[in-house]
Amino acid sequence: MSGDANNRIGLPINVVLGCTFQLCLVAILGISWFSTGSLNPLEVFFDGGVLAKIAEGLLLLFLALLLIAWLQTSRTKDFRCAHCNLGLGDHAELGSAVRCPKCGSWFHQKCLEEMGGDPQSGCNRPDCR
Ligand SMILES: [Zn+2]
Ligand SMILES: [Zn+2]
Repeated sequence: MSGDANNRIGLPINVVLGCTFQLCLVAILGISWFSTGSLNPLEVFFDGGVLAKIAEGLLLLFLALLLIAWLQTSRTKDFRCAHCNLGLGDHAELGSAVRCPKCGSWFHQKCLEEMGGDPQSGCNRPDCR
């Protein structure tokens, strides 16, 4: 085990997504509260001003996108990279999770590149077919 991986700086991607998600949620509730006096975001679409409606709509859209990204990260979170054996979701600095089309193993994008493989032609490992 090299100490190299521990020296890399970078927040786990799911923590970043989680924080952004919560900030977004707070902003949505804030807009609802200030424009309609209610914490129900749907009230804005009935009673809120045009600007509040636009802001709320964009935030909700952003929230939906975040949720999708979050779900995708947590889907691969429990997998480990077949090259460096670190968790796939916990090391954003190593790139996103990619799957070898030939052997079906999961890798960090950077690990795959390091091995001379790519997401189209495979991971290039000796035992890959
Ligand atoms: Zn890796
Ligand atoms: Zn492979």
